Parts: sequence; C-alpha cells; structure tokens
Amino acid sequence: MSKKARVVAIDGPSGSGKSTIAKIISEKCNLTYLDTGAMFRAIGLVLDQKNIQASESSKIKSFLEKMNFEYAKSNNELVVIDGVDLTEAIRNHEVSALASKYSQVSEVRSFLKDFQRGIAVERPSVLEGRDIGTVIFPNAVLKFYLRADADIRAKRRLEQLKESDSSVEYDYEKILQDIKSRDDQDQNRKIAPLKKANDAIEIDSTSLSIPQVVEAIVDKIKQVSELKA
Ligand code: C5P
Repeated sequence: MSKKARVVAIDGPSGSGKSTIAKIISEKCNLTYLDTGAMFRAIGLVLDQKNIQASESSKIKSFLEKMNFEYAKSNNELVVIDGVDLTEAIRNHEVSALASKYSQVSEVRSFLKDFQRGIAVERPSVLEGRDIGTVIFPNAVLKFYLRADADIRAKRRLEQLKESDSSVEYDYEKILQDIKSRDDQDQNRKIAPLKKANDAIEIDSTSLSIPQVVEAIVDKIKQVSELKA
C-alpha cells in the first residue's frame, strides 16, 4: 500500500458531524460516499437478532462467510443483509451500542476492511468512520479528524433522532452518557481503536457550522489532483 489511495478519510467520534459533512462533500466533489458506521450497525443488528454473542468468533466467522452483504449509495445509504433491507432499522438509537460491541470482533473488522477497500479502489471516494485513516486507507491522499465537545455531540444526536422519529421522547442525559461510553469503547478497543492518524488534519467542529467545516475540507480537496474524478 505504498501508492496513495484516491480517498478522503474522515474519522472522528459519533456526533462530530462526519456523516452530514461527508455526504455534502461527496456531492460537491463528485466522490463516492461510504458510511462505514452503517455497515457496522447492520452487522451488529443481525448478529444480535441471531443471538450470536461477540465472544463466539467461529459462529461469527461462519455467518460472515455465508452472508450476502449489499451496500448502495442512495439517499439514506442502503444496507441489505440476506435480502432484508436494514436501512431504517440501523438508525435506531439502540443499534449504536450493538455496532460498537460487535465492532470489537476481529472477524467483523476484517470482513468490512476488505469490503470497504473493494468499493473505494474503483473511484475517488470519501469514507467516514473510526479507522479509515489509520487502518483501512493509511495511504489515503487526504485525511481529516473531526472532533467536538461531548455535550454538543449529544445535542446534535438528539436533534437527529427527533427528526427521524418525532413520536419518541428522548432523554438528553441518557444520550450524553451513551455517547461517552461509546467514545470510551471505541477509543480503547484492542483492534483499530478510534484515533487521529498522525498525518490527519484535525478540525474541531464544536463552534463551527456545517458549511464552515465543509468549506475547509473542500478547499483542501481542490488542491489534490488525485481526487479529480
Ligand atoms: O458512525 P456510527 O455512529 O454509525 O458508528 C457506529 C459504531 O460502529 C461506532 O460507535 C463504532 O463502534 C463502529 N464503527 C467502527 N469503525 C468504523 C465505523 C464505525 O468501529 N469505521
């Protein structure tokens, strides 16, 4: 992996704005967009439904070998496993914790590493996640690390959840605690922990608007000839 990959890597904790920003950038700069969190969510949800524990690595391996996994760029990043469309179900708040739990399993990470690399080598792409700049594409031509204070991220998450389902009452304190425990789990896991790559550009989005962050990233992308489709 010495040659530079035509990839914009955007890593950071949940609620740092990665998805919203990566989606806008993919449109503005004509890049394929991969929401890698959606992939971990889908696999975590199905493993939980099948009652397979994170410790049961041989069962997980055999499930992954047989599973038919489909991901397609659409308005809401379509994820289908064995013919079941999980696109909406994975946005449920409870699925975040399942994704984080099963994302610690090496077989799951290895399956998604190959899958993500396979899609992104075909066209210039923007991938957002936790380990894009460190593990999936350490040779990405451009890397960003988005951070923001936990309370701001919890507020943003609350707004997102309300938008997706206004009939449910969400508790801000619970969301804040969930975000902190997910940060802790993602940063301290053994394989591919969430961390800033040494060569990533760090952006603190706590007091920046979405257009301000987009502008900063698009400016950099325009300077990189490899990212021209
Ligand atoms: O980004 P999102 O919040 O949808 O991700 C859900 C969970 O999936 C994260 O908390 C993390 O545990 C896991 N994940 C990961 N590596 C990625 C993307 C997501 O471990 N590249």
